[in-house]
Amino acid sequence: MNGAAVHRAGRRGRPPWEALRDELRRATQAEFDAVAAAELGDALRARLEACLASVPSAQEDAWRKYAEELGRFERLGRQDRAVLLARGLRLCASLAMTAEPRPSAARRRPEPEPPAMGPRMPVDTLPGVGPQTAAKLQARGLASVVDLAYVLPVGYEDRRRRKPLAQHEDGEVAVLEGEAGSLRQGYARGRFMATLQLRVDDGEGGVANVAARWFHRVGGLERWTKGGRLLAVGPVKRFQGEWTMVHPELRPADDPGPGIAVRYPSVEGIPPRTLAKAIRAACAALARPESGFEDALPPEVAVAEALLGQHEALQLLHDPPQDASPEVLAALCDATSPAHRRLAFDEFFFFQLALLRERGTWRAEPARLRPLGDAFDPETLRACLPFEPTDAQWRVIREIEADMGAGPPMLRLLQGDVGSGKTAVAFAAALAVARSGGQTAFMAPTEILAEQHMRSLAPWCERAGIRIALLTGATPRGARASLLALLGAGQIDLVVGTHALLAADVRFAELGLAVIDEQHRFGVEQRALLRQKGQLPHLLVMTATPIPRTTALCAYGELDVSVIDALPPGRKPPETHLYCGAKGLDTVRRGVAKRVTLGDRVFVVCPLVEASEALEVSDVEASAAALRALMPERRIVVIHGRMPSKEKDAIMTAFREGHADVLVATTVIEVGVDVPEATLMVVEHAERFGLAQLHQLRGRVGRGGGDSWCLLHTGASRGSEVYRRLAVLTETHDGFVVAERDLAMRGPGEVFGTRQAGAPRLRFAGFAGEGTKLLVAARESARALLERDPDLSQHPAVLRELERRRVDEVVVAADAG
Ligand code: ADP
Ligand code: MG
Repeated sequence: MNGAAVHRAGRRGRPPWEALRDELRRATQAEFDAVAAAELGDALRARLEACLASVPSAQEDAWRKYAEELGRFERLGRQDRAVLLARGLRLCASLAMTAEPRPSAARRRPEPEPPAMGPRMPVDTLPGVGPQTAAKLQARGLASVVDLAYVLPVGYEDRRRRKPLAQHEDGEVAVLEGEAGSLRQGYARGRFMATLQLRVDDGEGGVANVAARWFHRVGGLERWTKGGRLLAVGPVKRFQGEWTMVHPELRPADDPGPGIAVRYPSVEGIPPRTLAKAIRAACAALARPESGFEDALPPEVAVAEALLGQHEALQLLHDPPQDASPEVLAALCDATSPAHRRLAFDEFFFFQLALLRERGTWRAEPARLRPLGDAFDPETLRACLPFEPTDAQWRVIREIEADMGAGPPMLRLLQGDVGSGKTAVAFAAALAVARSGGQTAFMAPTEILAEQHMRSLAPWCERAGIRIALLTGATPRGARASLLALLGAGQIDLVVGTHALLAADVRFAELGLAVIDEQHRFGVEQRALLRQKGQLPHLLVMTATPIPRTTALCAYGELDVSVIDALPPGRKPPETHLYCGAKGLDTVRRGVAKRVTLGDRVFVVCPLVEASEALEVSDVEASAAALRALMPERRIVVIHGRMPSKEKDAIMTAFREGHADVLVATTVIEVGVDVPEATLMVVEHAERFGLAQLHQLRGRVGRGGGDSWCLLHTGASRGSEVYRRLAVLTETHDGFVVAERDLAMRGPGEVFGTRQAGAPRLRFAGFAGEGTKLLVAARESARALLERDPDLSQHPAVLRELERRRVDEVVVAADAG
């Protein structure tokens, strides 16, 4: 977003949305502090009010809706507030993209003329895209011409080659020619349905009956019943012995349309053909030189990797040649085409470049604190811990010791399965820093987790003679003030907390190490804040998300990696079972009742229903109600994202202390607490989670050392692909194996699609196997480029592209908060 992008400038030449954006940014930066602030809602509403008058009509609906939601700000929980802020940032971003400089008499200096057509031009500048279509696209985050050109097709249909009807698999798209018979429309069992009987060539010389069905009203179906040959294209299914085709596209047989049809994800309210046309128009618009759309990939890289040109790739993707061979088409369908390869390479390349530059900045100067010679003395550490560290823990402690003494600040990722004992490793590092005269900041993603760390670290610190303190958004004002004073005076060695630690007034006497537990919501910007606090502290990021080594590059490419690859002795992984159907759910719930009767505690997780807070609540409540009906005398508590965090805390504490038997929850992170008495983890709608996430969830039980179980329930049927994916968890307990299998089945794009902050938005990189090779190649190219041109001064287009992608990313990352 540059300063020239002015949208109906306010009195002082600054458009009102910029003020809103700044306010939003401020609030998201010190996230955990600011969203709780009482004045924030008012401040945001005032800024928003100032924007409303100048929002272009295509975006007006979205803004009005947002204003309504802001009206309820005070009633929202912390997480929902964060999501709302992110949404606001996104709105501002789309406004920035569509902002047109308006000549104004008041302006003293004439602004340079904007290009007639730019890649960031709003979609309604395209032929065939009116304000209504534009608004609907906008609602899906497709605001500019470039956004549209980068929509990834979901499939390609070859309408040139037809095969016999009987050879189609269930759900496969068929192209059938024939005639229409009778049409019936109306309500059946409360649901609208239209059925058009078709008599089609079965491809084997005969004729077959196919029932074409629509579950919503479609205009003009009658005309097909008047005779004439037609072409029907759509997925076919055998249903009760009869062939059906759902929501087919019908055309006259003598106007068959393109031989290869591109299918896109559906956008609510936009007919597929309109969307496809708009995307092709966007693609064509970018081909024009005056569009200012540039291929930022250095030509030498494109040549070395044998990559298509950027526009060539988009063209192939959206408008494959009508005489494309079956092989070319198959590659497009499998997302392994040269077009996919090129666009995936871009994503990897620019993301790696950003990470490597970040690493370069972090490690440009020597670390301020180097551990003294015997700071990592094993005997001192042993004296503080109630257990002997495992071999894996010792090895990682050695790696950290070497890294912290090497010169530049450490920038290290500590990977270890849930329960592998990462906290003790972090403690070893904090102890070494304290013994060398430095301080450690230990950051957790939520208050509950920060408090939990505090509880486990405090006794170890006491034995070590280290002074520890807790600082979160909930710390009372007075306590906070004295804590800050102590911290600034170097009287506290280890401070545990949340993002509250990043607040501007938190100052350290000598910050030597920052530990970040679970990198959720922690990105480049937060790192920059940390950097300002301690002149280049060492950084240790800890994650339990088991990422296969090669792809860890992608997510954490700027970090060195240490892995704890063994669990403490005696820990038995939970026995995992998978159930489906109503009967399965009964079995699962009876399992809950059984454990509870035996005095154990149980977690039940119902995932967030997509974007619907109301549904979210009803889901957990329904599950809790079913359990209460089963065991009325038991205490079953519910926790969900809409609760104020105080309430959540109280419920968590009750559960941990044994005042409740079952905890039904939606918010996964809150389940991250240690409850040794919990022996059973139930996950409903398990298919809505990634395997890695489920693996983390099950790691939450069995911490007391005895037997433990994880029961997964899914709505998907036995034998379905979803079921097979979930079944991986019943076969292995190794987090890395789980991650590898997940990756092989879904591809890196999707696996990282669900990662929180700093997640690379990989849309094209979503194919397995080749994807990993491509990632390694892209990383190597990025590294080589920085070697040739460290500040990229010879590659201004690359710098611009980095900036463009960064803007996108920030918005995406904030959204996940
Ligand atoms: P995570 O890696 O998931 O953060 P924690 O650090 O919370 O794991 O450790 C899980 C549990 O295992 C804690 O109760 C911790 O005290 C215990 N633990 C850690 N290391 C060891 C060890 N070497 N031997 C026995 N118990 C250990
Ligand atoms: Mg942990």
